Order: sequence, then C-alpha cells, then structure tokens
Amino acid sequence: MKRKNYSQKETQETQVLDLLDLPEKCAQDKKRRLLTENNFDNSNEGENNEESKKSKKKITITDKHERLIRYTSKNIPKMLKKYWIKRFDLFHNYDEGILMDEEGWYSVTPEAIATQIAERCRCDVIIDAFCGVGGNAIQFAKTCQKVIAIDIDETKIICAKNNAQIYGVEDRIEFILGDYFKLIPKLKADVVFLSPPWGGPSYREQKVFNLKTMMSIDGEKLYHETTKITNNISYYIPRNTNPQQLANFTGNGKTCEVQQIYMDEIFKAQVAYYGDLKCIDE
Ligand code: ADP
Repeated sequence: MKRKNYSQKETQETQVLDLLDLPEKCAQDKKRRLLTENNFDNSNEGENNEESKKSKKKITITDKHERLIRYTSKNIPKMLKKYWIKRFDLFHNYDEGILMDEEGWYSVTPEAIATQIAERCRCDVIIDAFCGVGGNAIQFAKTCQKVIAIDIDETKIICAKNNAQIYGVEDRIEFILGDYFKLIPKLKADVVFLSPPWGGPSYREQKVFNLKTMMSIDGEKLYHETTKITNNISYYIPRNTNPQQLANFTGNGKTCEVQQIYMDEIFKAQVAYYGDLKCIDE
C-alpha cells in the first residue's frame, strides 16, 4: 500500500512509506491521544431512543430474508464466481458458516485490508457507519474497546452478527439497524469509519468517481455530517476517486492522508484519513 498526503491547495506527494511499518508506530501515539477522549454518550442506548430500541429487537431469520443465502461451490451464481474463488481473502474462515447476501460478496472489504485499517483506527469507541456483512467491524473489534456497527438493511445486520459470532467478537460490537444520518445526533465515538454504498461494481466504469454525485448518498455531506461526531474519520473510497476531492472536504487548507491499497499488485481502493488519524503532519 502507498500513502500520500493531500492538502486542499495543492496535490502533492510528500511521502511514500511502507504501510506495514508505519501504522503500528503511529497508531500507538494516536491511541494515547484518542484514549483520553473516552466520550461515548450512552444516550443512544437510552429508553427513549427509537433507533436503539429497534437494534435491540431480537432478529430472527425468516423467509423474507430470501437474499440471505449460504453459498457453496454448487449454488454460487455465475456472476459471483470470481468472488467465490477469493472467499478466503474476504473471510479466512469462510467455511465456518460465514453469511453474505449477494451485495455483500462484492462490497465486503477483504480481510487483509480490513485488518490494516483496524490497526490504524485503534481507539476506544469506533463507529462503522455502513457495516454491511461485518468485514470491517470484526477487525475493529480486535483493536478497539467497542464497535458500533450500523446498517440500514436488516439482512446485512443478520449476516454481520452471525459473522462476528464466528470470529468470537460479537460481545464487543453493538449492532444498530438504522439510518446512519438519523442516528448521528445520538452518537459519540473517537473514530468513525465510512464505507458508503459505491453503487456496486459499476463504479469501475467511471473515469473519475465523484463522491458527491455518483453515490446514492452525497459523499461530501456524509463527511460534514460525520464531523459532528468527530474529526477522526477514515473514509474508504473507490480507487478512481480524485484524492483532491477528499482534501477539499476539509476546507481551510487542512489536509487528509490518502492510502492507495494494492492486493496482489492490483490497485483496489483508497482510504482517506482525517484528524488525528493522519500520520503525516500538516
Ligand atoms: P456498494 O454500493 O459499494 O455495493 P452497498 O450497497 O453494499 O455498497 O452499501 C454499503 C452498505 O451501506 C450496505 O450494507 C447498505 O445497506 C448500507 N447503507 C446504505 N445506506 C445506509 C444508511 N443511510 N445508513 C446505514 N447504512 C446504509
């Protein structure tokens, strides 16, 4: 993986470092800072909170979750075959009963990448705002005291809970079924991880992926709404996003750091780090 620092005024490569060394060193520094802000507001667990009540409802698998299929080599649809071959890259213990709906197959973060991001985001309380089938939340549960994993789709929450159980980390994750934007006023955390809906694999067809106009949600609004919780934001975005757009979100000439993620020498995605998560100073 490669890392670069982008400022709002100029796009400039300041450093290219080996990611495998760096996060550990700087994560320890940052952890010290982030741990001083143990500011999780339990109001989101309060009696009057409708979203929270919903999340505590016992979820059972019923016929209406027809999208929830345990795929095997025999029933995997043709269009998912290329993901099936890589199933152990997605979850190394796929065979122990991992559940993913069709969307989950192409949107889950591969485990090696999720592990790196989790190391970098080490803190007390982290929010995974669009948790999907739980690939990131599971790894956050290994580096953070508490994970708040949110998704608007009940099937995803079912998969994520099941998958967290397989990894033995479900007790560190609070799952909330709800709309992240509506939950924001009630949430407190040290770090927020954003992996919004890119719109499926079709994002690859765009020369430049515009976060503001090409997703079902406005990616710039998402950043600004999230700063109401914290400035420590990790934003997982398509490889064809212009990093300058990510820097521009911050305003006032502030910077963000963008990592380019490669797997098997293929450029897969980018992660922008804001606030104290940056390892490179302004
Ligand atoms: P992609 O388009 O990259 O395949 P997805 O459609 O899988 O991404 O979206 C990522 C996740 O975000 C999905 O699990 C989806 O249910 C969830 N999601 C979408 N909108 C919201 C929202 N407003 N609040 C919380 N989760 C959401």
